[in-house]
Amino acid sequence: MRVFFNKRRNKLEKMDKLTRLRTPAKKKKIPVNVFTSCPKCAKSFTPQVWSDNLYVCPECNKHLRLSVKTRLNMIMDAEYEFIDEPSEFRNPINFPGYEEKWRTAYDNTDSDEAIVFVKGNIYEQPCIVGVMDTNFLMGSLGSIVGERIISSLTLATEEKLPVIIFTASGGARMQEAIISLMQMRYVSAAVGKFQRAGGLYITVMTDPTTGGVTASYASLGNIILTEPGTLIAFAGPRVIRDTIKQELPEGFQTAEHLEKRGFVDRIIERKDMKKALAELLKMHNSKQVKVEFSEVELQTDVFLKSDQKSAEKNTNLTAFDRVKKARDPDRISPKQVLEYLCSDIIELRGDRLYGDDQTIVGGLATLGGLPITYIYTQKGDDLESRIKLNFGMPHPEGYRKARRLMKEAENFGRPILTIIDTPGAYPGIGSENRGMGEAIAQNLRFMSDLKTPTIAIITGEAGSGGAIALACTDKLFMLENAVYTILSPEGFATILWKDVSKVEEASTNMRLTAEDMYELKVCDQIFPDDLTGLKQAIANTFNQLLEEKTKQ
Ligand SMILES: [Zn+2]
Repeated sequence: MRVFFNKRRNKLEKMDKLTRLRTPAKKKKIPVNVFTSCPKCAKSFTPQVWSDNLYVCPECNKHLRLSVKTRLNMIMDAEYEFIDEPSEFRNPINFPGYEEKWRTAYDNTDSDEAIVFVKGNIYEQPCIVGVMDTNFLMGSLGSIVGERIISSLTLATEEKLPVIIFTASGGARMQEAIISLMQMRYVSAAVGKFQRAGGLYITVMTDPTTGGVTASYASLGNIILTEPGTLIAFAGPRVIRDTIKQELPEGFQTAEHLEKRGFVDRIIERKDMKKALAELLKMHNSKQVKVEFSEVELQTDVFLKSDQKSAEKNTNLTAFDRVKKARDPDRISPKQVLEYLCSDIIELRGDRLYGDDQTIVGGLATLGGLPITYIYTQKGDDLESRIKLNFGMPHPEGYRKARRLMKEAENFGRPILTIIDTPGAYPGIGSENRGMGEAIAQNLRFMSDLKTPTIAIITGEAGSGGAIALACTDKLFMLENAVYTILSPEGFATILWKDVSKVEEASTNMRLTAEDMYELKVCDQIFPDDLTGLKQAIANTFNQLLEEKTKQ
């Protein structure tokens, strides 16, 4: 009998806990984590100032850690429901003292484990959202955390919902030892299964995301976002210091550092996070199946630069004149072409291996209402940016980023548009060390196998392997003064005749103009430099390819 009453009491206590958890936060109620002074700059603010500022320091932009409830109320539309089974303490390896620690966390936080999942909407976009709580045993990855992630992904697959997880964790749960380590493989497998079934999985790494969480589900997002200043690491600074006695450089393992290293797509300010997530969800939730420009958009199917009244007539130009035009710094840039054709442009960064090469830019956009993946090269607008961008010569990480984004496009059935103006891939030690040849080769094979429609537009120079690595598309368009070459005409003259002054002759003999490419069946269509007719042609071509490729 006593056993029965004990069980019953436990159940009632749990229900009480859940009721408390599931009651929406009362307005004006001071959240669990009250800070008066900023842990970074030590400046003090009233709780009201912190709350009004979304717990971001007005002085130094430090993004403070949030309780589960505070985070959910910032991100979710008003009505959301908790979907987890109630947590029940377990001690898989009978670790001494674990229960007491767990109960203390249970009683003193607004969550009943280190992760809590809800189902709801973000600006009317339906989704499942998980939020981790660093106040609950440092947000460590225990077996209940693992099981909750797996069951949420299963539910999301059944209900065809995207999943977003805000990670915040010290890593594995020491009190569960090897059982915690096993969660890393279970949750990673579950993420893979969910993604193979077509699910969109976004992670938002918040401060701190470390250890076994970084080394599993946090790093597996189709898209990975983070907040400014977030600590992201596998081995945290203290572990590194204690293990190999190495002091880390300033700014190491921050979101900003990781973005440069190509491991996160975007750093988003807290005030912009809800909108950014909603835009990404909307882009993946689009019901549109073809490119549809409005009549007004098609009537103005021409791009005019302020100093350019109409398309120039270029019939008498020599091949080398075209080369010079293709290289003109004032020429229309791939970025301008993208902005002319597309709206809702969202940049996504990083190759997830080494770095983010800004010479190649990519992400999501809508083209006549249809979500697409775009990739373009850039040379820079002034001397400083040109030097920074190696005058438009990408590194291997740029091509690997492009491939990563194209793979995502294929997963979600998005057409791909590449816009190219590059003298070629960057020749240098870094490029060779990081496998430029391999990076290009992979792109050639990968692009040739894509099942999603692809179009490339060459706007200026398209030099050698560095250009073809983005141009193995179903259709290739060129602007009338663009050129496509096996190497620069100067290089060609030097190699063949050991005489760089023969560059004009080389230009003619190489056959490099858009007209040559059309005759040689390398290019499918040529457009004037003012882009007349490009919108219509892109729409028609993508729509035709969509129809053909869906039939296959
Ligand atoms: Zn501060």
